[in-house]
Amino acid sequence: MRTLAYGFPKLGDRREFKSLLENFWKGKITEEDLTEGMNRLRDWMVDNYRQYVDLFPSNELSYYDFVLDTAVMVGAIPSRFGKYQGLSTYFEMARGKRALEMTKYFNTNYHYLVPELETPNFHLLKNFPLEDYNYFSQKGIDTLPRLLAPYTFLVLSKAPKRTDSSPFAVLQLAPIDSVDVLQQYASALIPLYREVLKSLASAGAKVVLMEDPALTKEMTDEEWRLVTEIYHQLAGILDIYVLTYYDSVSNYERFVQLPVKGLGLDLVSNVENLENIKKLGFPQDKVLIAGILNGRQVWRANIEQKARLVEDLSKECRELVISNSCPLFHLPISVEPEDQLPEGLKERLAFAREKLQELKLIKGLIEGDRQALEEASRISKILATDIGRRDHVRERVRSLKEEDFRRSVPYRERIKLQQDILNLPLLPTTTIGSFPQTEEVRKMRTAYRNGRITQEEYKAFIKKQIEHVIKVQEEIGLDVLVHGEFERTDMVEFFAEKLEGIATTKHGWVLSYGSRVYRPPIIYGDVERTHPMTLEEISYAQSLTSKPVKGMLTGPVTILNWSYYREDVPKHEIAYQIALALLDEVRDLEKAGIKVIQIDEPAFREGAPIKRRDWEKYFDWAIKAFRLCSNAQPQTQIHTHMCYSEFNEVIEYIYQMDFDVISIEASRSKGEIIAAFENFKGWDRQIGIGVYDIHSPAIPEKEEIKRILERAMKVIPVELLWVNPDCGLKTRNWEEVIPSLRNMVDAARELRTEK
Ligand code: GLN
Ligand code: ZN
Repeated sequence: MRTLAYGFPKLGDRREFKSLLENFWKGKITEEDLTEGMNRLRDWMVDNYRQYVDLFPSNELSYYDFVLDTAVMVGAIPSRFGKYQGLSTYFEMARGKRALEMTKYFNTNYHYLVPELETPNFHLLKNFPLEDYNYFSQKGIDTLPRLLAPYTFLVLSKAPKRTDSSPFAVLQLAPIDSVDVLQQYASALIPLYREVLKSLASAGAKVVLMEDPALTKEMTDEEWRLVTEIYHQLAGILDIYVLTYYDSVSNYERFVQLPVKGLGLDLVSNVENLENIKKLGFPQDKVLIAGILNGRQVWRANIEQKARLVEDLSKECRELVISNSCPLFHLPISVEPEDQLPEGLKERLAFAREKLQELKLIKGLIEGDRQALEEASRISKILATDIGRRDHVRERVRSLKEEDFRRSVPYRERIKLQQDILNLPLLPTTTIGSFPQTEEVRKMRTAYRNGRITQEEYKAFIKKQIEHVIKVQEEIGLDVLVHGEFERTDMVEFFAEKLEGIATTKHGWVLSYGSRVYRPPIIYGDVERTHPMTLEEISYAQSLTSKPVKGMLTGPVTILNWSYYREDVPKHEIAYQIALALLDEVRDLEKAGIKVIQIDEPAFREGAPIKRRDWEKYFDWAIKAFRLCSNAQPQTQIHTHMCYSEFNEVIEYIYQMDFDVISIEASRSKGEIIAAFENFKGWDRQIGIGVYDIHSPAIPEKEEIKRILERAMKVIPVELLWVNPDCGLKTRNWEEVIPSLRNMVDAARELRTEK
């Protein structure tokens, strides 16, 4: 038996990846410095692997995103970027003014750049896999080049599609939904992939890893035929190990018949793959790559149990490789530096490096190594104990009743009560919550955290920021104000720090896209709110103005989906625990006179399982969790906010959340999102249209904003529309924010009078 690991986080022990990129973008370092720094990280990643596992990949250190790398590899450079000029074009595509669209990778919080395949013509533009393979082989290190499989690449991409059948129809980019078109693109990709495989084979590579997670989505027979055909055409050059992850493969029998040497299966996301191996057997001429360690959760594995599983598996196949269940980049690098975790938690955790150690330990145990034996039994003892239990919290969830999930008054009547109080104009304007987190704000927070300033000083500082942001918003003329979120590092971490049963880390950084990192909290016990969390800042903000100030909360589904969570309690129960904590906050805000409360749920959609057959169950509890925490007085207006979500297929579920207003992104997706609401019959809720992209420093023109609104007004009654940026403004600076919001308010005002 051998061990394999892949997807190790590229961030570096001290977030070197982030500083390298950002320094390069700021012009502080040269391209040479960047390359050198990236090479150091490359070496560091492989050093991590080499210490613990037998097999490991190369071609893992993308400068921005591995899907983008694949697009560049095959020469899929949209014409608006002109001729590919190396890094400058690469970063234009990633983060320039007309960058590729960004969206979430399957059901994770990793964002990839959506390739735009203008034509089914490809050429080998950059042979990244070969370059990287050679880089290591010159050092005498053999690696398994890692490639995104053609099928998954196409599933993640967009291609031109006719919007209707008229001969004048415009071509719009859309996901490829016809097998014929997939086939056409695949045929064009295959020769190129063959070329890459050949180059790798002549450089000495014996095995490539092909990541094909799209095989876990529900697929038709035709699609399986296509995938089989693709592998037929790629076969015979070198050994291919296909990796699937995040879910069980959609058709086990088809999968194990693929003409490849190795088959990777995720054995932790559900039991289906394992049951199929046992029930249907595993081909004896193939290598089973068993993903037995959860790459998405931080829990230490019970090594003894895993070793028993490995023994079972080795009865089913001739050649076994054990591995992580999915890429390890969803995890922080190591638990080692964490010295402020709640009592008893650290020894239960395994981040990426510890997962590698676990693979080694399992192998050691199987081979009868004495030390491994002792270590494994020590771990079992730790894991047999309980942590963070709060029986009264469990009791509160158990006694929930039907009516706790239902607002007492239907929307039609609520809206009147709300409008009487709020008295808002047509096309009300607002923002999503955060305002610039300037250098000063961050410095003060660090100073406070490190004890360099007192709590009073910090609070006084935050109050000053709130005063300023209220004044700015009043001057600009926004209708519903916010307090700016200056006291928050991150929308989930902030609440995690205030809630019992959730731990936060000091160094547990994870990349979400580009150089953007966040520290997912760890839900390890029953969740409870013991003190108000947002009351002080929100009511202070409200005391400064006669305009309504929005209470600002992060929703239960997002807190859950953007955290690691325990596995001994069902997920819906954790969601209800968090929802109850938030409900207590909602009640406190109401008592303090807050009339509008926004509960952000940007992770609501991405949390949906990969297979549709599992959607009903997920959305059932996700919707209930949202309804539970938003069960406010009828006159309290409940907003929610979602960004970077594909709404098309889930609009019905979203509607059932029963909010009064939802704000969505609409500019980067070029208005495509609005269509989802248009197509939904009986949509009666208010929608805040994200009229400009806050991820770009560009200041939107008034006319541009008006155009987006006018398009929305064609399909959504104007009475339902709100006007806002597409997300929070915390990453922008004041010089960008003020003129942008002015233009936004002006646009709304002009449209109001034209109406
Ligand atoms: N209220 C949050 C903010 O404004 C929402 C962030 C988000 O949706 N990602 O920053
Ligand atoms: Zn957002």
